[in-house]
Formats: sequence, structure tokens, C-alpha cells
Amino acid sequence: MSSTVGKVIKCKAAVAWEAGKPLVIEEVEVAPPQKKEVRLKILFTSLCHTDLYFWEAKAQDSVFPRILGHEAAGIVESVGEGVTELAPGDHVLPVFTGECKECAHCKSEESNMCSLLRINTDRGVMINDGKTRFSIKGKPVYHFVGTSTFSEYTVVHVGCVAKINPLAPLDKVCVLSCGISTGLGATLNVAKPTKGSSVAIFGLGAVGLGAAEGARLAGASRVIGVDLNPSRFEEAKKFGVTEFVNPKDHKKPVQEVIAEMTDGGVDRSVECTGNVSAMISAFECVHDGWGVAVLVGVPHKDAEFKTHPMNLLNERTLKGTFFGNYKPRSDLPSVVEMYMNKELEVEKFITHEVPFHEINKAFELMQKGEGLRCVIRM
Ligand code: NAD
Ligand code: ZN
Repeated sequence: MSSTVGKVIKCKAAVAWEAGKPLVIEEVEVAPPQKKEVRLKILFTSLCHTDLYFWEAKAQDSVFPRILGHEAAGIVESVGEGVTELAPGDHVLPVFTGECKECAHCKSEESNMCSLLRINTDRGVMINDGKTRFSIKGKPVYHFVGTSTFSEYTVVHVGCVAKINPLAPLDKVCVLSCGISTGLGATLNVAKPTKGSSVAIFGLGAVGLGAAEGARLAGASRVIGVDLNPSRFEEAKKFGVTEFVNPKDHKKPVQEVIAEMTDGGVDRSVECTGNVSAMISAFECVHDGWGVAVLVGVPHKDAEFKTHPMNLLNERTLKGTFFGNYKPRSDLPSVVEMYMNKELEVEKFITHEVPFHEINKAFELMQKGEGLRCVIRM
């Protein structure tokens, strides 16, 4: 490994040249890491719906050519100037949102919205010099959310890298670097259901089922799963979801259906769809007086959330979160430990696996709504 330090590495990356067109495996040049950056050898990555949105670029603005990918696990190849917290050989999870440990957010116990490194889907370059570390025959290829893990090597800001237990199997814990931790944290850290309470989960993909795991760990007695895709329901039973509602099966709005099932509403709800009507339903289905709804899905760029203010005056609370309120560097290693201690099962989220050259299959599966996470072996 050390022979590559300070040099450009040529390797394979899956490049998105245009919106919605299959990724192309290309030979790319990856520049060495600069100040406060690390270069990672990615071993496993998986596809999250956020990658799909920015690849489709229908509901989101995107930059091309770009290397997508943010759910992954790898090993530090080399470190740039001023990096003392990581060393070559460390096992790590890159994260789409960072933790500088110096700003007001990082110092606050309540926030994970680092001023310097919070998620930025528009930026396609590194912060240090405003340039990209990827190129093809000298022409720039842009980054995605500071991680760009659909490449054998990538350069990431040190604040977006969590050092984890070297014994953790990287082909499993790669999925903890976004979706599952996001859902889990949205329930445990933000919705905070109490033992015996009822929780509605909107969207039963990996993020929603991560949220369901959180409800199970918190001791919720009723977990109501809401999805438009009925094939999700069978799978969701493995995650402790106790009841299912398909909005398509009802004439009434789904929030009314849930209110009837629960004598006025659920205690907590977590929205993991990205659809704004589902967000509104998730808010309106919580009980007045104490209900808390948490939004997690990434909305359409023009989406607007509308509800009658009386729904709030009646003492319902609406919240939102990125990455389940976990501070990536400080908290993610302990989520990995939850898996190592067998408190959290990760295997059941991994329904497919493909070699890197078949990465487009992972996109097809997600578009068809088949399976949960597809791990891509580099
Ligand atoms: P996924 O595609 O695997 O699952 C989404 C599920 O929602 C699907 O089963 C789909 O059928 C269902 N759904 C869609 N519209 C619905 C509706 N109107 N009502 C009910 N169900 C509906 O996606 P995922 O990877 O689990 O991601 C879920 C969402 O979370 C996406 O919007 C993604 O961008 C977002 N996300 C947010 C964060 C964050 O930090 N806030 C992190 C990761 C992902
Ligand atoms: Zn994600």
C-alpha cells in the first residue's frame, strides 16, 4: 500500500455521465489526499435511495459527470497533511455528513449538523481547494456528498470518516454508514418512543426498517408499517413490524385509517419515503397532546409541506433529521458495536450482492422496489 502514498492512483470507478443513464466503469485518476483529507480503498459499497435520486436527477438538481455512492466500508490508504486521527490500515466507514468537532453544532449535544461538513448535495468538489480529486485523462469528474464510494479509491475529508472496530466484517457493516443508522437513530435519538408505545413507519425500505429496529429496541408494542408496495410487508415482519397499511387499499387518507386503528393516533411516527404527502400523513397520524413525527426522507426539490396550524397547536410535534442525529465520528463506532454485540442484526437488511462491474443491477433492483440493500463488492 505504501508505494502509492503521495502518488496519483489509477483505478476503476463507476461514472454517472448523464442523468438516468447506466453508470460506466472507467479508469479514473485519483489524486493524493490534501490537507485534512484521507484516501480510502473502498472494499464494499451499497446503494441508498439518495444515490438513485441524484442519478435520476428528476426531483433533484445534480452535477455530471459524477461518482455517486455514500454507503460503504473501506481501509485508509494514505492521509493528507494535518491528519492525526487516522492512519493507513484503519478500518473505516465514510459518511455523507461530517463532524469537524470544532463548530457550534459539533459542540452542541443536540445537533449533528456540522457547519463545515454537513450534507451538501450540490457541491461536487473538495472543500480544501474547491477542486475534484477524480479525473479521466485530466478532465474533472465530480464528487457526491463528499464520499463518492462507487470507486476503488476515493478521497474524503477526515471529518466524514468514522474509524471502527477492525474486527467488524466490512461486507456487513458497510450498510451502517447511511441507511440503517439513519432509520435507527431517527427512532432512538429523535422520536424516542417509550416502552409499550405505538409507532408508525412510513416507507419500508432499509431506512424505514432501520427505524422499525429502533422501535423494537425501544420496546414499542405496536409498529405499524405503511407502504405502497405490498411486497414489502412480508419482509417487514422480520423487523418486528406488527401491522401493515397500504394507503392504496383505503378510500380515506391513511392518517385517518391509522387514527381509527389506534384510538386517536400513534405515539410516534417516522417517515422514510421522500414523498411529501407521506410526510404530511406521517405528521397528521400522531396523537394530539403528545405525538411526535420525524421526517427522514429526502424530498423533491420543489416540495412544500402543508398542514393546518391547529394540528401543531393541538400539541403534536414535527421534527426532521439527517443521519438519525448521530454524530458520524463520535457515535457511528458504537452503532457498529451494537452489531458486534448482536443487539442489532444487519444481515437481514442485505438481500442482494453483486460484483462491482454489475453495479447497474443494484440500481435496477431499487427502481423495481426489490429487496432492501444490495452490497456491491469492489
Ligand atoms: P427505498 O426505496 O429502499 O424505500 C422507500 C420505500 O418507501 C419503498 O418501499 C416505497 O415503496 C415506499 N414509499 C414511497 N412512497 C410512498 C408513499 N407515498 N407512501 C408509503 N410508502 C411509500 O429507500 P431507502 O434507501 O430506504 O430511503 C428512504 C428515504 O430516506 C429516501 O427518501 C432517502 O433519500 C432518504 N434518506 C434520508 C437520509 C437522512 O439522513 N435524512 C439518509 C438516507 C436516506
Ligand atoms: Zn444514504
